[in-house]
Amino acid sequence: MLRLLAVVLVSLLAACATAPDPQAPKVKVTPLGSHDGEFCPLDRALVFEDPDGTRILYDAGRTVRGPNDPRLGRIDALLLSHVHGDHLGDLIQPSANAGACPKPDFSVNVTPNSNMVNISLAKQAPMIVGGEMGSFLSAKVSSLGGDPGKLVRLVRYGAQTMVGKVMVAGVPAVHSNGLPAAFLPPEQAKLYAGGLTAYVGEPGGFVLRFSNGLTVYLSGDTGITAEQDLVVRGYYKANLVVMNIGGFPFTTGPDEAAYVVNSLVRPAAVIASHANEPATVGGKLSPTSRTAAFQKAAKMPVHVPLSGKTMEFDGSGRCTSGC
Ligand SMILES: [Zn+2]
Repeated sequence: MLRLLAVVLVSLLAACATAPDPQAPKVKVTPLGSHDGEFCPLDRALVFEDPDGTRILYDAGRTVRGPNDPRLGRIDALLLSHVHGDHLGDLIQPSANAGACPKPDFSVNVTPNSNMVNISLAKQAPMIVGGEMGSFLSAKVSSLGGDPGKLVRLVRYGAQTMVGKVMVAGVPAVHSNGLPAAFLPPEQAKLYAGGLTAYVGEPGGFVLRFSNGLTVYLSGDTGITAEQDLVVRGYYKANLVVMNIGGFPFTTGPDEAAYVVNSLVRPAAVIASHANEPATVGGKLSPTSRTAAFQKAAKMPVHVPLSGKTMEFDGSGRCTSGC
């Protein structure tokens, strides 16, 4: 009898040790997509909020409707993976939910400034970038009357910086990083005829470590890379991954992305990103979507970033609400 009691007590204690603590601090992750409650083709932007209140915007792209988008709120820093138009932001929507999820209306041209630079200037928040993007963005910020010393922060691969209590590190992405001519003034743009682009160094990804311990890998646009194993898992020990699943012809598709999360990074959970498809209808994942294929192939929970719907994560990478 005593023995039975001891066994019950020990298993109760073990259960208590692994049960989530509802009072533990959480990181809020809010997708800012083109259509409320859906996961649409050009959705990339996420806002991360640390328990200390620090708010970080990742790749504004086309779906943040400029600096006055009410969904932004206070922004303390912006992360830019690379300068392609769907990340730096060449076009934006004229109003909330403009167009349809499969074909959003991006009829407002924000070049040559870019959506990211406009938001950085308005919020007076630094853009954190790697490669050769710092010098390009510094010149652009200067030309628009901003202070590049304040608004552009270079963090190349291997380096890290702090934003509030959030550590931001640069990690490699294997992609490309040619600046579309639309971001250059016309007299410079004409130098890049014949399909050439102005190259601004390596594209990147990021690792963020929040004050509750949550460690997030933002893949950026990339293929499979050894650093996902050796650096992102081996050194940073990321427990949540925001993974590009777009596939042919640009980046990892669902199969390759599943290999990255199952065999290389091995986080507790994943947020699908950059699907390049209307993945949901009425907020429900389409069973034939590549997002659904990725969800099926991944061994851990894959959360679908529904625009405007805030997810909360504890320090271990577990989603505790909104997923
Ligand atoms: Zn992209």
